[in-house]
Amino acid sequence: MTATSQEYDYDLFVIGAGSAGVRAARRAAEMGKRVAIAEQDRVGGTCVLRGCVPKKLFVNAAHYAEAFEDSVGFGWRIEGLHFDWPTLTANVEADVSWLSGVYIRNLEKAGAEIVRSRAALKDAHTVTLESRDVTAGVILIATGGKPRRDLPIPGIELAITSNEFFHLPRLPKRVLIVGGGYVAVEIASVFAAFASDVTIIHRGAEILRGFDVEARQALHAGMEQRGIAIKTGEELAEIRKTGNGLLAVTRSGAEMEVDEVLLAIGRDPNTKGLGLEAVGVKLDRTGAVAVNAYSQSSVPHIYAVGDVTNRLQFTPVAIREGSAFADTVFGGNPTAVDYDNVPVAVFGTPEVGSVGMTEEEARLRHLSLDIYRSSFKPLPYRVAGRDERMLIKLIVDGDTDRVLGCHIVGPNAGELVQLVAIAVRLGATKADFDATMALHPTLAEEIVTMGRPAERIRREAAE
Ligand code: NDP
Repeated sequence: MTATSQEYDYDLFVIGAGSAGVRAARRAAEMGKRVAIAEQDRVGGTCVLRGCVPKKLFVNAAHYAEAFEDSVGFGWRIEGLHFDWPTLTANVEADVSWLSGVYIRNLEKAGAEIVRSRAALKDAHTVTLESRDVTAGVILIATGGKPRRDLPIPGIELAITSNEFFHLPRLPKRVLIVGGGYVAVEIASVFAAFASDVTIIHRGAEILRGFDVEARQALHAGMEQRGIAIKTGEELAEIRKTGNGLLAVTRSGAEMEVDEVLLAIGRDPNTKGLGLEAVGVKLDRTGAVAVNAYSQSSVPHIYAVGDVTNRLQFTPVAIREGSAFADTVFGGNPTAVDYDNVPVAVFGTPEVGSVGMTEEEARLRHLSLDIYRSSFKPLPYRVAGRDERMLIKLIVDGDTDRVLGCHIVGPNAGELVQLVAIAVRLGATKADFDATMALHPTLAEEIVTMGRPAERIRREAAE
């Protein structure tokens, strides 16, 4: 689409070395382009430094709590268990640093130049760095996002976000989490596993908006079973410092003394101070860079990928966008990312995995649906004495038999849904699922052994 030219210092200048920017820079450099990538922080971005990677390691740490509990029914006796927060934070930080180093080496191997500096646009082809100005034929904005913290309430500066969570010097005993999305569920589950007192306050009627309603309810019940208090239809009104921590006051007047208030109310794109609007790059109403299907902004040679575009805020999506950008602009192969059937997981306890349509979405779009549901106690839970069920739900088009969606709540839901996503993408029918031999004894075998629909929905088309 855009040709490269020797009149500029670089063929491509990338601002932001997170998942999306790094992938784009590497791919363009591997195609022989002259590429530089600027980063004001460490290389790696949200996913590596303060998102998916450290989060998953904290989740892994949390899982031991239940494994130890469950092991007793299997004959284990574990005396003197002790959890040490500083050991976890230090070891996770070491892993994050190692991974950041891998990202750096991969960029260097590909031939991209890493510029350790803040970068902003001076004009449409010039980037101002801390020490000099450089020019580029194509500029890619990949600056990601940051946790939103602009609740207009007194004392908001006393709250922390997921950014600070990973570096807390000590494990807070009492935590209030504001929000009912991915971050709220995941961090609440981690704290609860380490025996902190956790309360979630969520403004909506049920946590995890956008997910299948039964999955949301099952998650809610599972979290409450683990001692997490979930207050829905509630909002934070004020935070005050006390002699013994923080006093959080809600809109309904409830007061809670806690050690930390953590905001998990979404993320904002990092577009401020980049000089974007001055060169004609249009932002959408959320402040994200507005782009077309090829990640091209309103200025033809300026592109944007990843969270700064506020499409789907997931690392694999950002990486795909980075690749697709390079293929489109430098590879002569215009590539648009397919956002359908993106599998997602919320690594709470219990874990939620989801791909395709929820029942609610399917009801709006299909007249004929078969809903398959299996709710069962996983085999080890019986011996462990754990009173909890796993939910597996399939949404099937009643006319074509095609599987439209799969929603799982329970152990390894994310791992299971990643695999089901292949079948959903290939357009597999429920008959294909049925014809697949079960693998016994596994949890996943339930996916191919759900005989009869729990519900058949048949509606007439509206006039
Ligand atoms: P989410 O968008 O997932 O959830 C935000 C939550 O905050 C919602 O419950 C929302 O309520 C609530 N909220 C929004 N604004 C306000 C407000 N002004 N006052 C009170 N509540 C508010 O954001 P997260 O911060 O949890 O995560 C950001 C994104 O990062 C996710 O959407 C996801 O894309 C990504 N992420 C992915 C993970 C994964 O893949 N496992 C893990 C963590 C993050 P309502 O529902 O009513 O809008």
